[in-house]
Amino acid sequence: MAKATRMTFCSFCGKSQNETRKMIAGPSEVFICDACINVCKTIVERDIGENKPAVVEKTKLPAASAPFKLLKPADLKAFLDQHVISQDYAKRALVVAVYNHYRRLHSESRIETETKFKVADKDLADVQVEKSNILLLGPTGSGKTLLARTLAQTLGVPFSIVDATTLTEAGYVGDDVENVVLRLLQAANYDVASAECGIIYVDEIDKIGRKTDNVSITRDVSGEGVQQALLKIIEGTVCNVPPQGGRKHPNQEYIQINTANILFICGGAFVDLDKIVQNRLGSKAMGFDTLHNRRISEVPLHELLIETQPEDLVQYGMIPEFIGRLPMVAVLDELSVSDLEHILIDTQHALVKQYRKLFAMDGVKLEFTKDAIYAIAEKAVKLKTGARALRAIMEGLMLDIMYQIPHEDKLSKVVIDAKMVAGEGGPKLHYKKATRAKAK
Ligand code: ADP
Repeated sequence: MAKATRMTFCSFCGKSQNETRKMIAGPSEVFICDACINVCKTIVERDIGENKPAVVEKTKLPAASAPFKLLKPADLKAFLDQHVISQDYAKRALVVAVYNHYRRLHSESRIETETKFKVADKDLADVQVEKSNILLLGPTGSGKTLLARTLAQTLGVPFSIVDATTLTEAGYVGDDVENVVLRLLQAANYDVASAECGIIYVDEIDKIGRKTDNVSITRDVSGEGVQQALLKIIEGTVCNVPPQGGRKHPNQEYIQINTANILFICGGAFVDLDKIVQNRLGSKAMGFDTLHNRRISEVPLHELLIETQPEDLVQYGMIPEFIGRLPMVAVLDELSVSDLEHILIDTQHALVKQYRKLFAMDGVKLEFTKDAIYAIAEKAVKLKTGARALRAIMEGLMLDIMYQIPHEDKLSKVVIDAKMVAGEGGPKLHYKKATRAKAK
């Protein structure tokens, strides 16, 4: 196996050494390529010729990423509240974990904090705070990915998503786990230091649980190998990432990324995990929840999942070492009709707002009656795919009218009511002049 060499990138324009003719290294990991040297030379010659004062010239070339600011937990949560409806418990758990994670790294120059975290107690000077990766448990479409993405956006750190079911352990046909890190590096514009404190969201983590009844020679369907491979990067390792992606080959150059400070958020629906928890609680407490005076079988799904212990996840098929690396477990609730109504109208980029904007581009006002919003949310709940169903329902609902609108220059307002949502009529159309019509 060839020895991995670290790829260098121009600190000014971000190009890799492969894309430049000459790269010159400065002190402490700073590099400049021949093209940027030429740009700088031109600026210097011009300014010296014109006797301009010595100011720092900002070139149009992208500079290395700026430091990001760490907000306090309540401020982080306030941001999440603007985009993610409900899920209060998960939000709190997440912001505390994220705050602690980045506090560990506050000594790094890229992180700005309002408070300087000085530990006066000398006994604690050598204590290392371990990284606390997060496991999000919750039904599909309840906002797991949205939470992780919004959090990364709020913090301004690079973020990437990977679907665990596409991963294989090295040597099998599929995606190597190194590509997980590559995607983060790409999100960081190939700025290694920035990627090294980014967030990776691993979706469908429950699907790589240990299974024994499947055999395949092209893919590790047992899941255990993938968990082992993922475990390494979650624990923290120096990963050799092929900059172009794809399979590794011996003569390739690699970029080395240390994953020790990358925060991993894993998410999964863990269907039927509640039954495992229920069984465990049932056998211990004679099937009775003494605290709330009810049978275990009457405890709502969300409350049961909050009781999840590592042993339940192991029984589900996760390997103990993997679970050990995800010490923070946050549970998301199933979204109610009322939550879905809020999602439709209240979030910053709510679907109703998006459609209103599209209509406004054609000079048409779009209105949904309260009953229509309720009917859409009710329909979505029945589909059991959480908020995901909302988009599909809205697209089906709006297709015909969106097709018609660009051809209508007298239309001023469109009203969607509950009857239309129930498939019993079209939208109410209002025209600028006296003409009135009702669409089929
Ligand atoms: P999950 O990862 O839990 O399966 P996602 O976060 O991908 O679900 O949700 C799919 C889409 O549904 C999101 O892009 C968002 O538009 C919407 N959504 C889901 N949950 C929420 C929520 N709690 N608040 C606002 N929007 C949500």
